[in-house]
Amino acid sequence: MIKINENYSKLKASYLFSDIAKRVATYQNNNPDNKIIKLGIGDVTKPLPPACLEAFHKGVDDLASEDTFMGYGPEQGYAFLREAVAKNDFASRGCAISADEIFISDGAKCDTGNIQEILSNDCIIAVPDPVYPVYVDTNVMAGRAGTWKDGRYDKLVYLESTNENDFIPAPPDAKVDVIYLCFPNNPTGATATKEQLKLWVDYALKNDALILFDAAYVSFIRDETLPQSIYEIEGARECAIEFRSFSKTAGFTGTRCAYTVVPKECRGFTSNGEKAMLHPLWNRRHCTKFNGVSYPVQRAAEAVYSEQGKKEVKDLIDYYLNNAKIILQEMKKLGYTCYGGENSPYIWIDGKMDSWEFFDLLLNKAEVVTTPGSGFGTCGEGFIRISAFNSVEKVEEAMARIKKVL
Ligand SMILES: *Cc1c(COP(=O)(O)O)cnc(C)c1O
Repeated sequence: MIKINENYSKLKASYLFSDIAKRVATYQNNNPDNKIIKLGIGDVTKPLPPACLEAFHKGVDDLASEDTFMGYGPEQGYAFLREAVAKNDFASRGCAISADEIFISDGAKCDTGNIQEILSNDCIIAVPDPVYPVYVDTNVMAGRAGTWKDGRYDKLVYLESTNENDFIPAPPDAKVDVIYLCFPNNPTGATATKEQLKLWVDYALKNDALILFDAAYVSFIRDETLPQSIYEIEGARECAIEFRSFSKTAGFTGTRCAYTVVPKECRGFTSNGEKAMLHPLWNRRHCTKFNGVSYPVQRAAEAVYSEQGKKEVKDLIDYYLNNAKIILQEMKKLGYTCYGGENSPYIWIDGKMDSWEFFDLLLNKAEVVTTPGSGFGTCGEGFIRISAFNSVEKVEEAMARIKKVL
C-alpha cells in the first residue's frame, strides 16, 4: 500500500496568496473596466540590469561553440561566482567567509526549506510571527510543527513581533534548537541592529542552537550603521547559516539564482551530544540532490558585482526605495501608524481594523491590492503590507486613489 506523507494534511487549507487572487478575480469579473493596481505579492517589476543581461547573453553564446561549451558545472556553483560573492558581499563588510563556504542555488525559498533535511526531526523550531510562510509550511511537511490549533501549530515556538518590540523579537526564555530570522523583514520591513542580532547569536551559542538567517532583502539597507550579514556579529560563524538571493537584489525572481552560506565552524550535535559540522552535511545534500544553476544564469549573477552592475543594481533598488518612501509618507499623512518602508521594500501599516476588512476596503474602493497582515500570522492581525514593487506612476496613482477613499 502506498501511504502518503500525512503531514501534508496538517497544512492550513488555504494559502494566503490564492485567497487574495480569488478576491481580486471576483472584483475584476464584477468590474471588468476598472484597472486594479497590484501592491500585493512581493515580486519585482523592473527588468534585469543591463550588465546582467549582457553577461547572460554572452553566457548563452558560450554554449554555442565546442571550445567554450559548458556541461554540468560544480554543484556548489562556479568558482567565478562564489569568489565574487565572498569578496563583495562578505570580505567588503569585514566578514571572513571563504568561497567554499558559499553554495550557489536556484532560490532562497528552496534553500530555507531544504536546509532542515540535515537537521534532526525532533528539533524544536522557533519562527517569527508574522512570518514568511515558507519557514512554517516546510516544517509542517517535515512533521515538526505539530497540529493546527486556534491559529497556531502546537509544536512551534512563535516569536511575537509587535509594535511593542519594534517588530524585533528578543530570544525566548524557552530553549529552542532552530531559529528563523529574516532582516530586513518580510512582511514587517523591520531591520535589526547589531546589538539586537548579538542577543540572538549569544542565545544560540549558549543553547547549542542554530540560527537560519534570511537576508533576501539586504540590498535595501541604506543605513550604514545596520549590519548586512549575521557574520558581522562575533560568534555567528559557529551557529548561523545565512540565505541570500539575487531575486530582490537584481530582479532575478524569474531567472533564479541565490546562495546559502554554511561556515566551516558551524556546528550541530549528534544524539550523544557530540559536535558534528554542518558544512559537510549540506555539501553532501546539495551535491546529491542538486546539479547546479545554469551557466548563463551564474554569469548574469556574477555581473551584479562588476563596476557597471553595482551601479545599476543600486539604481534599481533606489527606484523601489523611492516608491516605498512615497507610500510611507502618504499613509502617514492619512494618519496611519506605519513601520518599515526604509531599508526595506515593505510598508507595514496598522489598519485600525481587521486585516481582511482593510484589504477589501482598499480593493473595492481604491482598486489597490495589498496583503492582509493576518495571512502572515496571528500578530499580523490588524495590519496590511504594501509593497513598493511597481512603477512609480502606478504607486502614485494608487496613493491618490487611497487618499480619496480613506
Ligand atoms: C522573496 C524572498 C526570498 C527569495 O526567494 P527566491 O527563492 O530566492 O526567489 C527569500 N526569503 C524571503 C523572506 C523572501 O521574501
